[in-house]
Amino acid sequence: MAKIGINIATGSLQKEEMIVGIDLGTTNSLVAIIHPESKQPVALKEHNSSSLVPSIIHFDKYGGATVGEDAKQFLIKEPENTIFSAKRLMGKSYNDIKENASFFTYKVIDDNTESLVKVQVGEKFYSPIDLSSFILKELKHRAEHILKTPVTKAVITVPAYFNDSQRQATRDAGKLAGLDVLRIINEPTAASLAYGLGLSREESKTIAVYDLGGGTFDISILQITNGIFEVLSTNGDTYLGGDDFDRVIIQHWLRQSGLSETDLSNNPELSQTLRLKAEEAKKHLSSNETFEAEVNGDRLSITKVEFEALIGPLIERTVRSCRNAIADSKVDVQSIESVVMVGGSTRVPAVKKAVSDFFGKPVNDSVNPDEVVAIGAAVQADILAGNNKEFLLLDITPLSLGIETMGGLMDVLIPRNSKIPTKVGRQYTTQKDGQSGMRISVFQGERDLVNDNRKLAEFNLSGIPAMPAGFPKVEVAFLINADGILVVKAKELRSGVEQSIEVKPQYGISDADVEKMLLDSITHAKDDIAKRALVEARTEGEQLLQTTEKFIGKNATFLTREELIETAQAMQALQLALTMEDKDLIHRKVEELNDISRPYAERVMDIAVSSAMKGKQV
Ligand code: AMP
Repeated sequence: MAKIGINIATGSLQKEEMIVGIDLGTTNSLVAIIHPESKQPVALKEHNSSSLVPSIIHFDKYGGATVGEDAKQFLIKEPENTIFSAKRLMGKSYNDIKENASFFTYKVIDDNTESLVKVQVGEKFYSPIDLSSFILKELKHRAEHILKTPVTKAVITVPAYFNDSQRQATRDAGKLAGLDVLRIINEPTAASLAYGLGLSREESKTIAVYDLGGGTFDISILQITNGIFEVLSTNGDTYLGGDDFDRVIIQHWLRQSGLSETDLSNNPELSQTLRLKAEEAKKHLSSNETFEAEVNGDRLSITKVEFEALIGPLIERTVRSCRNAIADSKVDVQSIESVVMVGGSTRVPAVKKAVSDFFGKPVNDSVNPDEVVAIGAAVQADILAGNNKEFLLLDITPLSLGIETMGGLMDVLIPRNSKIPTKVGRQYTTQKDGQSGMRISVFQGERDLVNDNRKLAEFNLSGIPAMPAGFPKVEVAFLINADGILVVKAKELRSGVEQSIEVKPQYGISDADVEKMLLDSITHAKDDIAKRALVEARTEGEQLLQTTEKFIGKNATFLTREELIETAQAMQALQLALTMEDKDLIHRKVEELNDISRPYAERVMDIAVSSAMKGKQV
């Protein structure tokens, strides 16, 4: 039965719980809704305050977390306890971020370059998922306080360039914050929804969404036809944004004051003071010609002309991405009918000018660029709530997905920029006679060798009945649902043996793991991996025992007494290995049994083939 809530602010009854839209940003985050009465989108804010919640978390000495404006002041006082730009760490290993490690003034753990990064504050360790969940919890509380109703369902946006593990990490963070994440959508898709583009069924339009936020840059080319949004291509840079504008101002000031980078790294407080001053200068220069300030007795200044010269190369990088996105989309730049501006950094006049010059038309910036994504998420939430049946969203996958084949080559099943949801299947076969298992390793990326790409998951299709090499038909299917979450299935078509996996084990986490995540330490995670490997080895061993038993039962007459004894001994050895905690031993015994049974399998197959041929001759 649906709960009925009363909105104390308006006195109105709310039969159904509202689904909110959340923009979980690198710099700022916010919540928006479609107002149940006015049907207008609104970014939620308390009286006289901003709708933006700084994506900053401060931890006190007991581990208590404060999020938002109240946490911001600690950036200077306690940089080691104050986390900013946590979104840059989502789904990343230390390897991924090590070139930019100096950017973080807090401690990012560098222990095992393969595993997900953790942040250390005092004695405690936090994953980027934990950190994002603190921000989402704060947003949830704020929304509940403003709406006077429980908020448990949300649509959350992510940059178009987020890969599967980053999307999954965002979903997990939502769950940890007590939110049922109904949909993860791309920020540019949300932005175009906020502009109401495609509202009329007759409308057909090609548009570009240029999103330059605090930490990420995305450009997307969208095709809107008859109320259907289709992303033709995306491009961008997960390490380019307003934070970089701040950095070039800091470097300008270092040159001006004679200080060095080392002076800054030895003085985190000064580093943060300069960071905040630089941001202030940048915003000031969006509508003024000069900025001046005094920090630690040094007079610092910068003019708009100097600032524009400094950020010129950064803006040029975004224009290059625009050019690539246009090339990928296979449309002419002239056929782009609207250019939508998203993200606080698009307030910089030089950015607007460069984008409008590139596309050859004025840019569309009428909706507040800080709120436009959250508002679009609210529009999507409204569609999911069944209030707006006009829309159907199609999205695309930003990176290619495939599996490892012989020699460590990447075999792409779903190329980048494919429309999702999608399903693709391809057949593979075994390399060895009697091979009972096939390892399926799933990778994401654009390089030819899997080693250069990112491994998403790995599993074993075990229990393939003994057949000569090349006989089994293993169909590997990739399914991407509307959230961009990948499910991989492998099925041996002759025997029907099948196995599937939702892709997240190596870089994301399973739903069941989320709840106990806060307690899990890095060592614990290693134990889990070892345990999983043992369970997998045992399953494979057990399945091989079963198939061998079946095989012997059916074909004992074709084997000699010695062969039967030898097989029984190998089976016994495997049986014994299964009772021990040693996956390598199990693997060895599986191999030994396979080596013994392979020749029989071949022989039985030959007999079967020749009798079939005899049958044909008759
Ligand atoms: P977002 O990630 O969309 O919240 O964008 C935040 C970024 O926009 C930060 O780098 C801000 O410093 C930047 N920003 C906000 N307002 C302005 C402004 N008036 N001029 C230039 N940059 C701004």
